[in-house]
Amino acid sequence: MGMLDGKIALVTGAARGIGRAISEELANQGADIVVGDLQADWCADTVAAVQAKGRKAVALALNVADAASVEAGVEAAIKACGRIDICVNNAGITRDGLLVRMTEEDWDAVLDINLKGTFLMTKAVARSMMKQRSGAIVNIASIIGLIGNAGQCNYAASKAGVIALTKSTAKELSGRGVRVNAVAPGFIQSKMTDALSAEVRQQMLDNIPLKRFGSPEDVARVVAFLAGDAASYITGQTLSVNGGMAM
Ligand code: NAD
Repeated sequence: MGMLDGKIALVTGAARGIGRAISEELANQGADIVVGDLQADWCADTVAAVQAKGRKAVALALNVADAASVEAGVEAAIKACGRIDICVNNAGITRDGLLVRMTEEDWDAVLDINLKGTFLMTKAVARSMMKQRSGAIVNIASIIGLIGNAGQCNYAASKAGVIALTKSTAKELSGRGVRVNAVAPGFIQSKMTDALSAEVRQQMLDNIPLKRFGSPEDVARVVAFLAGDAASYITGQTLSVNGGMAM
């Protein structure tokens, strides 16, 4: 028996990275998965991994920054699966640069996908979740949204916005049985962290009390917890998954 048996989950940015790990963990817990990303063919590996666990998976082409794409995507997902019980807003990008050199395009791209994308997705799934009087939304924020970072003012602002959006939507939707929470990962092992020099890696590790980078699975397990009934009295919260940084 999984924590999420019989549930239908939509995960954005699910073609790779943390989104793929979240899709796999929700499937481990018994959920069927709508695998959303910019192009449906990018989702093939995640779809196969979910199906290998004996769960259903459908690929969904979806640009979270585009209202029409989000509305059509959520409608198609509900048509294909009957309902959406869980929505994980994971799609996100970085366009790093120091404030004085950051272009308006870099600011807009990050805010459009990370923050507006989470708003559009939440709005689109909230309607059906409110109607069915149950649902769980989990937004992927970041430690950078809590503590800031030089060179990431756009990203930090977007993720702080996601945390505030989480609190406000939790207050609005709680009366209809819909919970909204966020997960704030710290440094998660990825192609990006693999490419760092040994010196920079060590500097980063020195700042992590648990002395290792997180894994996508470390994040995914917490998302599964917040999405399931074990978290039935938790809403509006941001859970940090960062090895003890920024307590
Ligand atoms: P990633 O770049 O590996 O994957 C992001 C996925 O989102 C990609 O598959 C991409 O195609 C998709 N995507 C991008 N724009 C999209 C859009 N407009 N619509 C739909 N899909 C879109 O990133 P990741 O490292 O797996 O990060 C996933 C989330 O976790 C992001 O929100 C990121 O900000 C957050 N996060 C990551 C880390 C980390 O260390 N990797 C730390 C904290 C938070």
